[in-house]
Amino acid sequence: MKSHITYLSFDELADRLCGIFQRHGCPSNVARLLAENCAAAERDGAHSHGVFRMRDYVSNLKADGWVDPAATPVIEDASPGFVRVDARNGFAVPALAGARDLGIRKARHNGAAVIAIRNSHHLGALSLDVEPFAEEGMIALSFINSSPAVVPYGGHTAVFGTNPFAFAAPRAGEPPLVFDMATSVMAHGDVQIAAREGRALEPGIGVDAEGRPTTDPAKVLDGGALLPFGAHKGAAISLMVEILCAALVGGNFSAEVDPSRHPGAVTANTGQSLLLIDPRKGRGALPDFAGRVSDIVGYVRDAGQQRLPGDRRLRHRAQSMKRGIPLGAEVLDFLDSLEAA
Ligand code: NDP
Repeated sequence: MKSHITYLSFDELADRLCGIFQRHGCPSNVARLLAENCAAAERDGAHSHGVFRMRDYVSNLKADGWVDPAATPVIEDASPGFVRVDARNGFAVPALAGARDLGIRKARHNGAAVIAIRNSHHLGALSLDVEPFAEEGMIALSFINSSPAVVPYGGHTAVFGTNPFAFAAPRAGEPPLVFDMATSVMAHGDVQIAAREGRALEPGIGVDAEGRPTTDPAKVLDGGALLPFGAHKGAAISLMVEILCAALVGGNFSAEVDPSRHPGAVTANTGQSLLLIDPRKGRGALPDFAGRVSDIVGYVRDAGQQRLPGDRRLRHRAQSMKRGIPLGAEVLDFLDSLEAA
């Protein structure tokens, strides 16, 4: 049993994860994309979608045809402002990677573009999907629906996924401003982490299988559900995410996902939408959109908000890149076990 923290470089961790994905049936290109996505979440301190998720990835890959890791996404140039992607029951990350350049070209030409992905499985931190577009000068918004895990406002049955949305915009002289949040009070991965660590949840996060409030993460996971953040307001945003990720793209609503014949399935075969906006079109001859983003961030900080979205993530990233990504002994043992499985 190893007893100390080990620091791996991003490449070392990604290589290790890539080997696990390949061992469990992913072709090398898909394995590489998923491994870099998962390693990047760990690097950024997005622990609910970092290495912790490797167990779910492996379980998912073993779940008897639930996800097709070798699927080749079909990318259609649907209209001047629309890229339509059928991920063909594969992972969303390679589907988005395949559509990315066409989406950017369309947004640059038209001022805006939509990438609509259906029939896809997502198990990552959404910040990683939007940030690269902002690095190319775009505003990017993205949404994903998932498995039923959240009760609607005042409701008793889970109908929404944890349905995250993310926003990214270029910022002058700094990495893009990014925020990324589940529309549930808490991300499902964090409930699993609490259950694993034997920690109670705060009141107001979840209900048990009978719809009664509970602070026991195991009861939330065992037939219970989460609440939407912000009461009726969060529930409305989650409803919007369902419409943008299922009705719009031609995919499943979270409530329609049925993994019951695939024991071990974790992800949902749902959809993802991205909206890209080229800010140069909005400002005409006024050049400095990124500077204006910095202006508003400055006003917010001056007004007393000490931590902005992304501050923690970027600090974590900088530390990880400097000293390596810290992994505890139990995590390394766990990766060993996945390599051997
Ligand atoms: P958090 O509530 O931890 O954070 C949400 C956002 O708010 C982040 O941008 C965060 O910035 C920022 N933030 C957090 N605390 C503060 C604070 N005190 N002051 C200012 N800003 C703050 O995220 P969630 O738990 O809602 O989501 C966790 C992850 O789970 C996300 O990456 C999401 O994409 C992912 N997810 C993925 C799903 C999937 O199907 N693939 C489903 C559901 C969730 P910072 O990042 O710097 O902390």
